[in-house]
Amino acid sequence: MVAERQKILASVDTDFPRWYQDVLEKAELADNGPVRGTMVIRPYAYAVWERMQSEVDARIKATGAENVYLPLFIPQSYLEREAEHVEGFSPELAVVTHAGGKELTEPVVVRPTSETLFGELMAKWIQSHRDLPMLLNQWANVVRWEMRPRLFLRTSEFLWQEGHTAHATREDAAEYATRIHLEVYKDFLENVLAIPVLPGFKTPSERFAGATNTMTCEAMMGDGKALQMATSHELGQNFATAFDITYTDAQGKVQTTWTTSWGSSTRMMGGLIMSHGDDFGLRIPPRIAPHQVVVIAVKDDDRTVDAAKQIVADLSTAGVRTKLDVRIAPGFGRRATEWELKGVPVRLEVGPRDLDAAQVTYARRDTDGKSPLPLADLVTTIPVLLDRMQEDMLASARTRLAERTTHVSTIDEAREAAKTGFAVIDWVVLGEAGEKELNRDAITVRCLQTRDGRMPDPLNPEQDLVAIVGRAY
Ligand code: AMP
Repeated sequence: MVAERQKILASVDTDFPRWYQDVLEKAELADNGPVRGTMVIRPYAYAVWERMQSEVDARIKATGAENVYLPLFIPQSYLEREAEHVEGFSPELAVVTHAGGKELTEPVVVRPTSETLFGELMAKWIQSHRDLPMLLNQWANVVRWEMRPRLFLRTSEFLWQEGHTAHATREDAAEYATRIHLEVYKDFLENVLAIPVLPGFKTPSERFAGATNTMTCEAMMGDGKALQMATSHELGQNFATAFDITYTDAQGKVQTTWTTSWGSSTRMMGGLIMSHGDDFGLRIPPRIAPHQVVVIAVKDDDRTVDAAKQIVADLSTAGVRTKLDVRIAPGFGRRATEWELKGVPVRLEVGPRDLDAAQVTYARRDTDGKSPLPLADLVTTIPVLLDRMQEDMLASARTRLAERTTHVSTIDEAREAAKTGFAVIDWVVLGEAGEKELNRDAITVRCLQTRDGRMPDPLNPEQDLVAIVGRAY
């Protein structure tokens, strides 16, 4: 069985990049679009994305933000108003110069991100201190002409949410951006995707173009490389000044606001695949899985099929997302392999012999082997099993992160440790000069953290920070 399964995919240990491509194709997740760098998201991956959206959206709304929708096109002149922003984004812009059969008088940019448009509108919408804070979010597609595209991880068009907020004070802006980072992103990534993340600040050279501080959630993938999973930016008064986002305070004085922005994208799908996948395909944590359980009828006789349908109905009533597979072709073995590739957490196999014994056979995707389960216990046992799997997957990702993280005291040691995982080094030892030196070997500072692994307080950053160093996607 193992030999037959391994033919399907390249091995995680020997060829991770090829394995990633194989999973995308064989689990029917994504395809390349006809224009370089664009991506087609297939139904199964889109179902995961929809669940990501609803989980992230609920957390965003719990912090008080509301959803809006702004246009895809932005006048080029808007981007030019914030010098660092336009400089950072220029190489990645897609610009429309012709439309309706004519050359446009002012070129139009396809949004790479919408700080400028939100800036323009917030300037109009915000008058007094009573309008603050203004907390907005949009779900949208954006376009960045990426030089090294990779499906999900870095595409020229991607789907995301982008939050944009304006506040009366720096303190309020910093506190809100931190809250988004920890209560929305970190909580979702760890408790739903089962991906442990390192929250921290980006170094000045890695900051978002136009930000005064960028917070990041960095995760370790199965091959020890890093992936930036989400970012939140303090924009200081850069955009507020450029777009004149002002308000009248309680004393009648005109003041400039402080703004933030924050985003998470379809890249998280790439992170999910690369964090948990193994030689047999995807492994999807139960809380994000579109199908938590698949019930496979081993034979297509009426008794087996009816029993399988009843199990699906019972589990669905118990709140378990359950999928029925009663296909006659392909054969049972092929179907089992297919669900394994797609990473469905639990497979329940129902056959005549199982039914004679009033039981089913179950297989957990995250461990080997199959066991019998009495039919009478299913609706009580399965939810407990799914919770346990969720915990186990987070625990094993945490173990990998810990095992592949090395505390070092020199740049050479950091370079060595980054071959297989992350290095932790004092930021005063590394410094911006050391960071540049590592960059030459394609090693980057993923984030700066407090010594005990927390995100520094933006209002009172400790001097005693450590740098997390590694290779990244
Ligand atoms: P940014 O606006 O650059 O801070 O990006 C916000 C989020 O979108 C980050 O967490 C990135 O991980 C993600 N992201 C940035 N560029 C891409 C891309 N080309 N494809 C997919 N996700 C991206």
